[in-house]
Amino acid sequence: MEEVDIAIIGAGVIGLAVSYILSDVSKEILVVEKNSSFGQEASSRNSEVIHTGIYYPKDSLKSQTCIRGKELLYDLCSRYNIPYKKLGKLIVASDKKGQAKLDNIYRNALECGIKNLKFLDKKKIKKLEPDVDAESALFSPDTGIVDSHSLMKFFFNIAKKRNINFTFSVEVIDIKKENSLYEIIVKEPDGERFSFRTKFVINCAGLWADKVSDFIGMDAEKFHYKIHYCKGQYFRIRNPKKFSITHLVYPPPNEIDLGIHVTPDLAGGLRLGPDAKYVSDIDYNIDEKEKNVFFDSVSNFLPVLEQDDLIPDTAGIRPKLQGKNEGFRDFIIREESEKGFPNFVNLIGIESPGLTSSLAIAEKVKLCLTTH
Ligand SMILES: Cc1cc2nc3c(=O)[nH]c(=O)nc-3n(C[C@H](O)[C@H](O)[C@H](O)COP(=O)(O)OP(=O)(O)OC[C@H]3O[C@@H](n4cnc5c(N)ncnc54)[C@H](O)[C@@H]3O)c2cc1C
Repeated sequence: MEEVDIAIIGAGVIGLAVSYILSDVSKEILVVEKNSSFGQEASSRNSEVIHTGIYYPKDSLKSQTCIRGKELLYDLCSRYNIPYKKLGKLIVASDKKGQAKLDNIYRNALECGIKNLKFLDKKKIKKLEPDVDAESALFSPDTGIVDSHSLMKFFFNIAKKRNINFTFSVEVIDIKKENSLYEIIVKEPDGERFSFRTKFVINCAGLWADKVSDFIGMDAEKFHYKIHYCKGQYFRIRNPKKFSITHLVYPPPNEIDLGIHVTPDLAGGLRLGPDAKYVSDIDYNIDEKEKNVFFDSVSNFLPVLEQDDLIPDTAGIRPKLQGKNEGFRDFIIREESEKGFPNFVNLIGIESPGLTSSLAIAEKVKLCLTTH
């Protein structure tokens, strides 16, 4: 039976970043992806925002990896010509409730060491964004956008150049522990099954990460690894030139998401979204009836918006550990020796800011491997 050092399950931005970072530790790495190419799930169905880490509790993994990941990502993009733009972001408020949320974000950001946020009044908002109507805003100058496909292509190309192997259209369907090794059982598109052995397993399976962990016997319910699907839809603005938007513009955040925001993209387009709804199936269709909700929400701070400006765009699904009506849950980045599975690294619940955090998450995985 074939044997490798490290098996990475999933070639989204996390699996790719991990393969890129680990490619200087080992050459015997196999990345297994069930789709025919990399990055076809959450990693290509998101807002492509480089977050700064202002929302997450101090010292949480989301906070740590976002703050570090943002620095690493800006540096990588500028060194290797990966398209990105540091646009800056306004979180706008028009009532007392919204203002209180901005105050909380500001306090949290300070606690996390982010000191360059600024409050803007109505006049200053108008100066920056003439089309935006709000009483106050919190301005985050370091928030940006990145071309996620180019980023993933960069990780993939470099990893391949360093002799990392990728196998596509091959699904991991079971994992068995064999003394100090793991046997990975996979299914090919024609239904054929084969197995290989590996010393290390890195579970980067996104929406399916709880199932992959379950294969080896880590029960998702028992260990609180169950993933809840939370769908986010986008509408695109038909005629972006009608608007003078040059920054990201967000409402105050909700319990489960950051609110339907306006995101300029690198091609000069404008997108609204995502919304947030818990769902039971993975289905990327857009419910056009939701257009009203998007319109009502965004026209609150962008009054020049008209219903006809909106056309359905894409949707993504967040792999949330936080269930409906539950509180904050952090990323899980864990080497599972304590549960009896040494050298098995679980990455579970890697929702936003996973894209921003990808390089910092990969660094943490490297640390897991080198300290166990
Ligand atoms: C609507 C939305 C908006 C977001 N906005 C932002 C944002 O603006 N900024 C930000 O930083 N983050 C954002 N995120 C989060 C970010 O997109 C994710 O954190 C990131 O893409 C997760 O990457 P991943 O590789 O873990 O998952 P995925 O991209 O889902 O990749 C997992 C891969 O594993 C493969 N796989 C699963 N099971 C198996 C198996 N059994 N065998 C083989 N392969 C398997 C899948 O096919 C898939 O390709 C957003 C997410 C969503 C959904």
